[in-house]
This record gives sequence, C-alpha cells and structure tokens, in this order.
Amino acid sequence: MSMRKQITLLLLALSTLVWSQKEYPLIPKPTYVAFNDDFFTVDTTISIVAPLVMDAEAGALISEIRSRKKAIYITNKSTIVDGSIVVQIEPKMAAEAYEIEINPKVIYLKASDYSGVQYGFQTLTQLLINVPKNQLQFPCGQIKDVPKFKWRGMHLDVSRHFFPKEALFKYIDYLAAYKLNTFHWHLTDDQGWRIPIKKYPNLTAVGAWRKGSMVGHYNDQKFDSEPYGAAYTEADIREIVAYASIHHITIVPEIEMPGHARAALAAYPQYSCTGGPFEVAKEWGVLEDVFCPKEETFAFLQDVLAEVMDLFPGQYIHIGGDECPKTRWKACLNCQKRIKDLNLKDEHELQSYFIQRIEKFVNAKGKKIIGWDEILEGGLAPNAAVMSWRGTEGGIAAAQQRHPVVMTPGSHCYFDHYQGEPKNEPLAIGGYTPLEKVYSYQPIPTELTADEAKFIFGAQANVWTEYIPTFEQVEYMIFPRMTALSEVLWGTAQPKQYTNFFNRVIQHFPDWESKKINFSKAVFEVTSEVMPNPGGEQGVLYVLKSNQNPTKIHYTLDGSQPTTQSPTFSNALMIKQSQMVKAAYFDEGQQKSKVCDQLFTIHKATSCLVSLQNQPDSRYGAGGGFALVNGVKGNVQKFGRDWLGFWEKDIVALLDLGSKKPITHLNLGTLESPSSWIYYPKEVTFEISTDGIHFQTLQSFSQKEIREAKGAIDWKGKRVKARFIKIKAINNGIIQEGFPGSGNGSWLFADEIIVE
Ligand SMILES: [Zn+2]
Repeated sequence: MSMRKQITLLLLALSTLVWSQKEYPLIPKPTYVAFNDDFFTVDTTISIVAPLVMDAEAGALISEIRSRKKAIYITNKSTIVDGSIVVQIEPKMAAEAYEIEINPKVIYLKASDYSGVQYGFQTLTQLLINVPKNQLQFPCGQIKDVPKFKWRGMHLDVSRHFFPKEALFKYIDYLAAYKLNTFHWHLTDDQGWRIPIKKYPNLTAVGAWRKGSMVGHYNDQKFDSEPYGAAYTEADIREIVAYASIHHITIVPEIEMPGHARAALAAYPQYSCTGGPFEVAKEWGVLEDVFCPKEETFAFLQDVLAEVMDLFPGQYIHIGGDECPKTRWKACLNCQKRIKDLNLKDEHELQSYFIQRIEKFVNAKGKKIIGWDEILEGGLAPNAAVMSWRGTEGGIAAAQQRHPVVMTPGSHCYFDHYQGEPKNEPLAIGGYTPLEKVYSYQPIPTELTADEAKFIFGAQANVWTEYIPTFEQVEYMIFPRMTALSEVLWGTAQPKQYTNFFNRVIQHFPDWESKKINFSKAVFEVTSEVMPNPGGEQGVLYVLKSNQNPTKIHYTLDGSQPTTQSPTFSNALMIKQSQMVKAAYFDEGQQKSKVCDQLFTIHKATSCLVSLQNQPDSRYGAGGGFALVNGVKGNVQKFGRDWLGFWEKDIVALLDLGSKKPITHLNLGTLESPSSWIYYPKEVTFEISTDGIHFQTLQSFSQKEIREAKGAIDWKGKRVKARFIKIKAINNGIIQEGFPGSGNGSWLFADEIIVE
C-alpha cells in the first residue's frame, strides 16, 4: 500500500470516528467526553440512589423525567439495581469536579461535593435536550469534568428596577443550570434601597421609593412622575439566600458606599456632607451627594453591614466604592478637617481611608470586602478583592499587588449592552456585545505572569437595569449570552470554534421556549463587514455574514424589504454609490431574522489612505483609520461598532486622496454619551495641503459649537483644491465635576470624515 493511500485511509478512519462521536449540546462543554453507540434507556421507572436527599441538586433532572411521564424513586439504600443513577461522594476529587459513567444498565455519578453532584445532574439533564419528549434515554459513555475558575458569576441590579423574590428564584435556577456559582446582588443605589435594616427602618420606608423615573435614554433627559418602589422583607432575603445555598450558589450582597448613596441619604440626610434634604434619585448616572466620612456615618454603616453580614453566609461583602465624586468632600469642613488630622494627601486618600476603615470592621467579623476597581485609587485596603470593570487595568494592578480579582470589563461582560442591531432590540444603554464577543473573552489578562494569574478568581457579567424594567427583559439580556460566559469560566471555550458553540447553543432554544424563557434571537441576524475597495477607486466592499449558511441571506440595494425573490448573497458587494443595503436570513421560504440595514455614503475620501497619529483603543478599534472613510456613519446607540474610540487621546488623522481634488464640503461625525464617559471633543480643526508638508487651516470648531450641532462638524465653503486633509480633534480631557465619570479621563468617538 502506498504511503498516500495509507494516509487517505487513516484520514477516512479518523473522519468516521469524528462523525460517530455525535456532539451533544452540553454547555459548558465538559473537559472530557466520550460516548459510544449504546444507550441507557428508561421504559417506565428510574431510581436515584444517593447517600442524602438531593431534591435541589437533581431538581431539574427530576422535573424533566416527570415531564416525560416516567416514574422516579429516590432512595438511599446501598444495593445497586439496574435502571438506577448511583451517586457517590469521593472526597479525593477536586472541588466542584464530577464524573459520569453511563452504561446500558446503570449511571454512576461521582463528585467530591454536592456542587459537583449538581453539575453532574445538570449535564444529564442537558443530554435529554434532543431526546423526543415521549422517550427517556442517555447515551452511554464517560464524562470527566472540572471548572477552571472558582468565581463564575452573574450580577443583578435590583435598585434601578426591582425584581421580586419569585424572579430571583428563576435567576438562581438559570445560574445553576449553566454551572455558575456566584450571584452578585446589587441591593442599594441612588434610585432605591431594597434591603430592610431593622435599626434604620427608613432605609426602605423612605429610601425604596422614588417619585419618578427616566423615560427613554439618559441622553434625552426626560422623566415620568410615576412613583416607583419596592423592597424585600427579611423573610424574602432569608428565603432567597436559602434557595441559592441549596443550589450551591453564593450570594455576594452589595451595599454601595461612599458613592451611589442618594437613596440612603434621602432617608438619613445626617450622613451626608450638606445635611440635605434629598430625594431618592429619579435620574440615572453619577450623583454628587455621597456619604460624608464622619464618625456618625461610620457608626451607621457598621450597623447596616452587621445586619447584612448576619443575613448572608458568604465570605465576601461587596462595598461598591465606584463613581464617588469628590465635590462635596472638597467643600465640607468635616471632610477637610479629617484629611488634615489624618495627614492625607487629598480626597482620593480620604476615600481610601473610608474603604480601609470599613474593611477593618468587616474583617473583624470574619468576612472580606470586594469593591469596584476605584478602590485601588489612593491605596488598596490590605485584604480587599477587586472587581475590574473599567477595563482590565484595575484587575492587572490588583493581581500584581497579589489581591484577588474578579474580571468584569465593560467590553465583554456588560449584559446591559446591545447584542444585536439596536433598531431590532429593546432600548439599552449602548455598546455592542454580541454572543460571539462574550464567547471570545479571556479572563486572564496576557500582561500577568503565571503566578499573578492565580489571583484572577474568575469573572462575571453585570446586568445593570436602568433600561431593563421587567424580569422578562432581564431574561432577554442574559439569554443566550450567559451560556457563553459559562463556557468561558468553565475553561472549555475555544473562541476559534465559535461555530461549534453556536450550533450547541441554538439547540437549547426550543427548551427555553418550552420553559417560557424570553431569550434573544439576535444571533440569527445578518451581520456584516465593510472593507476597502481593492481597486483604489471610490467605494467599498460589503460582506454579509451569518452564523448559519450565508448563501441563505437575501438582500436589496434599493431600500425595499428583502424577500425570497431578492438576490441571495454570494460574493462581496461592491458599493460604488450612496445607497441602502437591507438584508435578512431566510430558510425554507421563511424569513428567519429581522432585517438589518446599512446606509452607505460614498464620497471623495471613501477608501482613501488614512494615517492616525494616535491609535484608537483596542476595544473600539473598528478596523483602524479605515473606519473614518468606510462610507458608514456610526450608529449613535451602538457605539461598540463603526466608531473609533480614543481613550484620553486626541484624534490626528491625515487623509491622502491620492491626487489633488476640488473640495467644497467636509464633515466629521463625533459622539457624546455622558453615561458612558464619551464626550464631544474640546476643539476640532480642519486643515488642507497640496504637498503634505504645508497646511492651511480651513476652520476650527469649539466644543460649544460641536454640541449645538449634535456632534456633526461641518465645513462648507468656496472650492479649494487639496490632496491631503488633516483633522485634529482634541479630547475633552478630565471629566469636569457634575458630569458622569467626573475626575476620570474621557472617551473621544468619531465615525466618518465625509469629503465632497
Ligand atoms: Zn463631608
């Protein structure tokens, strides 16, 4: 046999092997799976043989079995009979690990602890996803599984909008189903205090109620006057804690301080710098009135934390620590006296003193604090853990200082961002974090050494609810993105094999539908990419993409709605003139996705050479300088794409039109979204040149003019001739007091430079 033939046969054998290894829709994907062709089939009855009652751990499987009209017995007798699931505790196995062995007669489930037992049962439940509802059978084989990260979290903000106990039971079920183990419960904020404290009844009697809420987006600054409020009872909290605990989920309660305190101060204004009076906030964002670090305030917060620690058995208490403007502290005699008495440098060190003092109290009670990454400023408290949200820098700094870190960067872990085309989605704060982006997340920053990386405990997704008024919408924002996070944290995500994950996750959709879970189908949407025209002439190439078969995309170029009669996509579309492209995914004659549209503005600079003096931030890089001349104006809502984002940097862009061309009109698009710390540039200047050396200024625009023009910076004038155009946009710099993000640097966002 020739070598080539041998190889061919070997490849054939391998491919059959792969083929017979049918992939079950397990999420998160286990670390090791091998199935054979046999099945463990249940005709009428199945038993669970276990040393202890495990209604919670096996709950999902038990109800799945009952829905299939089979009887189930749970017993602790040690004789193993055919048709049983036998549970064994093996203390030598790793924490949270489990192993399953399925043969035609018995299923063995081994784990070191009951969380591992629960994960084993969840895996068995998922093996039934595609089994017809009138049958009950499991494939024979072996699974060995263990998570990579120990903090696998989901957060939920119940202050901006309130979700009752029953909703939280569901939330906990969802976490358990995907093997997440930490629920970060954001209980207090400016817009409502939701946890009862016996010693201070007004925290909920007053602090849980606001006189109205924002309507539409923050940028619109509109309000209603509907009273809004609710709080949990102590019994609710105890029930939720107990429910989480039997599902092996640790709750991390968050009590915000020293900022985001307006609801508490509305109830007890004496703990502010000015004495109030205050109202529970109607507006979102960052507010100036914060806790004043005086003795009475510490006594109050310690009382509050003592009651909170009594209610929650977990190790960590989240104390917030983010977004605390220093305006009041700068003007407060108390605060200034304390800075002087303690020999502190400034208000940042006062904040550090505040957190360290709270930490001492919490540590003395045998617990630990975790806070948002601002707690690094002015010096980190000795035992604190850090939640890195403004990016990865805070997490890197904390891990290098050997403090535990939970990664939760806005770029991948903020599930309040859009996951599809904004026009097809419920209103969101902004940003663009589709399923694939979540799946690509790597929690360990590459900057860390192997030793430092050990301090990355894991990651979590945050669900801020300013724009999420109902629990149905919470479901929509977390499904399916939470499943991608779950696989990332389990450690088996392979971003390059996203299609494999996609094919597994869509098999869960019918199951969610049957459970009436409201989930997003944005993954079926047509997405796209714009590329420079390789021919060098005006115009761009436009590629339509789908997670499924791209040849099932139908599109139109005349603004009409696509139908099965419209052309199907095969090769990149050449866009040579300003026009609208609409596209949707079709299967079996049916439209399966919402329509996505893209308006192109083709002009003299489209696809021209752009050099940037400063590089955009990697999170908002959007293909570099080409994004400024790709014929696509950025979507104001979805600033995660089509916009170039510069963090604390100016934009200096040089366009080379290739030859001298007459110009009568220049336009640059910029964005302002204060709640995301994106501000208009301080100044923009347009310059032109014929030789690339000597430049002539056409016009400069002030921030005031830019704001009045809503970010569109426009020059129209007498015809000039130029080959080079230079655009300078000066970053807003440190955000002023009184604006969201004050004291931090600004983002500068630009989209298209139109030349006519
Ligand atoms: Zn003060």
